[in-house]
Amino acid sequence: MKITIGYLYADLMNIYGDTGNIIALKKRAQWRGIDVEVKNISVGDKLKKGDADIFFFGGGQDQAQSIVASDLESSGKGKIIKAEIERGVPLLSICGGYQLLGEYYKPHKGPKLPGTELFPAYTLASHDRMIGNLVINSMFGTLVGFENHSGKTYLKNKVSPLGMVVKGWGNNGKDRTEGCIYKNAVGCYMHGSLLPKNPKLADWFLKKALEVKYGKEIELEPLDDTLELQAHNSAVKRFG
Ligand code: GLN
Repeated sequence: MKITIGYLYADLMNIYGDTGNIIALKKRAQWRGIDVEVKNISVGDKLKKGDADIFFFGGGQDQAQSIVASDLESSGKGKIIKAEIERGVPLLSICGGYQLLGEYYKPHKGPKLPGTELFPAYTLASHDRMIGNLVINSMFGTLVGFENHSGKTYLKNKVSPLGMVVKGWGNNGKDRTEGCIYKNAVGCYMHGSLLPKNPKLADWFLKKALEVKYGKEIELEPLDDTLELQAHNSAVKRFG
């Protein structure tokens, strides 16, 4: 089997170690004998249905977000990504990427940046810099990460959060929600990188990508996650 990881705006949206998520997905697939291709999809690139079996969209500063928001809209890639998620293709987005998949992101300076409207949510820049270790309870169990954002995200239409904050700020530091999950698309503020320390979530993305691509239920062979879980449990113990 083979999966193609669509790395959205890798050259512009990749801060706080977010490429570690690509490495985790790639290695966890290769350790199971699954071939992997990573396709960077950035400004000016074309995108069509089936080009990627899973999308990753990392964090970025406001300036990069403004360039990306305009490309998503003008190139039509935002609409293609939305249609791919609707048919079940999984996606992980972190912070700046997550913000641009909502309805809009209003930065401190300048106009609102239009989002792809994948997540029923909107983000407003704030004067709080929300930085620190982030621990949440979710359908994947406890998840641990690191957040660094000023944007506060508010969920709408009863869409599910990824989880509820145990320690940290999360979406907005008020309603205790963190992130958002819609079909197989996840948005969150969990840099870190997220997936190396949360192997259950990493495998969930791989399983969904393979099942949508090959049209059948797929059980992934278990891996020895001793090291990953040591890192996970140490973070929960220290910060949870
Ligand atoms: N510029 C956005 C904010 O500060 C996103 C930052 C990020 O991706 N870490 O909220």
